[in-house]
Amino acid sequence: MSRDSIQFQKGLSLPEFLEHYGSEQQCYDALFKLRWPDGFVCPNCGNTTHCRITSRKVYQCNRCHHQTTLTSGTLFASTKLPLTKWFLAIYFLTQRKTGLSALQLKRAIGVSYNTAWKLKHKLMQVMLEHQKGEMLTGRIEMDDAYIGGERPGKPGRGARHKAPFIAVVETEEETHRPQRMQLRAVKGFRSCEIERYASANLSPGCRVVSDGLVCFTAVEKAGCRHVGIVSAGGRKGVEHPSFKWVNTLLGNIKNAITGTLHSVSLKHVPRYLAEFEYRFNRRYRLGDMVERLTSVALRTPPMPYRLLRMAEIYG
Ligand SMILES: [Zn+2]
Repeated sequence: MSRDSIQFQKGLSLPEFLEHYGSEQQCYDALFKLRWPDGFVCPNCGNTTHCRITSRKVYQCNRCHHQTTLTSGTLFASTKLPLTKWFLAIYFLTQRKTGLSALQLKRAIGVSYNTAWKLKHKLMQVMLEHQKGEMLTGRIEMDDAYIGGERPGKPGRGARHKAPFIAVVETEEETHRPQRMQLRAVKGFRSCEIERYASANLSPGCRVVSDGLVCFTAVEKAGCRHVGIVSAGGRKGVEHPSFKWVNTLLGNIKNAITGTLHSVSLKHVPRYLAEFEYRFNRRYRLGDMVERLTSVALRTPPMPYRLLRMAEIYG
């Protein structure tokens, strides 16, 4: 798909979305179809015969008598929020190129700020966990970057308030057009961190092009080849054409973050990065992103607030 056809692809319009997910019953039915496409399956014993305690929307297995609901054991478990709000949040977070902040989400779907924050972070966590284990292959551009912590009017606070991450783009061999991207938080630009990242996320045999930051040579310990290109103006002096895409994408991400997210808490940086990565890697499939993310959320265990507040995951 060309760049233009990505920008102009049909996606899912709001009226179309509302036609499918506009009522509580429609959302319930959509969840049911995604969780149990062939009908109810007992999560305890795998049996399919059951009876329903309709007053509580409870399903009881006829064999082991285990009682369950459509959402128990999933990200939607014990939610007090109408499913229509969940689906709207999923819609806005997946269909808008730059996503939206918790504050924008609060206004868009009519919930409190706290609820919007929790919704957004739960969905970002789903994106983060879903992306683990996706291996990049072939030609790779790698760069180092920082996010968050910028405090206007208080210069000189240094890297202490910024979270380091690596931006990695898998490109076509010939044209260098971007295919997939990974944005992963690291504890610092150290060889052991790069080796850990590469072993988990890059297929052996990848050719990694970087601007020569010393720690990037550690990808070789994970079976990749490293090509360091140092331009005449120093590491960041001149933007070398070999890093066109990684530089462009990093620029977009930083703009989006300053534009929509006014402050990013450092401990949540991996989640924000996951959100950008998720949308970028699925940019060809705007039309079915609502269904796909909902489907993954159904396979994600419940996430209590206390876990949500502390989670810090390096990928
Ligand atoms: Zn059972």
